[in-house]
Amino acid sequence: MSNKRKAQSTLFQSWNCEPKRQKTEENEKVSTQSNKENSSVSRKFKPEWTIKWSFVRYDVEKNAMFCKLCEKSGRNNIWTTSGCDRFKADAISKHAKTDDHLFATGAQKSSGDLDKSAAIAAEHERTAVEGLMMNIYYLAKRNKASSAIADLNKLLLHHNLTKFNSIQKGSKLMYEHHESVREMQNAMAKVVQDDLLDDIKNSAVYSIMADESTDVSTEKTLMLYVRYIKNGAPKVSFLEVVELAGDECNSENICNTILRVLEQRNLCVTNLSCITTDGASVMTGCRSGVTTLMKEKNCQLLSIHCIAHRLLSLLDKQQTTSHI
Ligand SMILES: [Zn+2]
Repeated sequence: MSNKRKAQSTLFQSWNCEPKRQKTEENEKVSTQSNKENSSVSRKFKPEWTIKWSFVRYDVEKNAMFCKLCEKSGRNNIWTTSGCDRFKADAISKHAKTDDHLFATGAQKSSGDLDKSAAIAAEHERTAVEGLMMNIYYLAKRNKASSAIADLNKLLLHHNLTKFNSIQKGSKLMYEHHESVREMQNAMAKVVQDDLLDDIKNSAVYSIMADESTDVSTEKTLMLYVRYIKNGAPKVSFLEVVELAGDECNSENICNTILRVLEQRNLCVTNLSCITTDGASVMTGCRSGVTTLMKEKNCQLLSIHCIAHRLLSLLDKQQTTSHI
């Protein structure tokens, strides 16, 4: 074949074939469009699919299906972006087998397992801490040293109490350090004190008993007891031991300490009807004793010299005058 003939043949073929290809593309385009139109007309989302495939979510506005699991685990596919509008059960089944969806399913399962484990651990810890707090409360109520908590716990573990399983040796949940014990004591004291303060506030009037003391570290402290009315009957309760304000144990510092405690506990000084103290001049001195200073804050305040201290001073006097 000559070159001219070859060129003619190629030209003829290309001229003859091109329209055919164009025709096929057009046919495909028309066919796809027609299918899509047919699909949107005939195929609609079926609500029962959300029962069979619980991860499917149907968006009415977008008229598309989304995958809740893929969305939750931040996957980037058509089921999380524009949504799948191919409303066929087959489309959902296919998505359920994709790597993205399987990854999302795995993440959801691990997250569920983790939550479950954390909940079980928290429940065990809560039960163990509850038991430990009861032990600490038991020691405090019987005036036993807090340092006995380790031995008490050991005894309970020895008896295989399941409640204490999570505080086995080697576990971080021992809570026997003195700081932990003090934290628990403070938490319990807060509850007890809140109840007491509610009772005092509900009482029309109340009185206090105050006495100063010095602790083992030679710190000056003030002990306060309170007497109030509950259900028509008088009750006496321990209120607080506080460090004395200032360096000296004088009437001004004692008075300021009492007023500070009452203010901190939101107890009204005008409802304070009486203050009971020992007979020391710093307390009962008529010029600048604590009771005199307190009466400046509440002119109706009564002051009582403690009967036990009076009895004590009577015995002292009897001993010194026994020779008569
Ligand atoms: Zn998915």
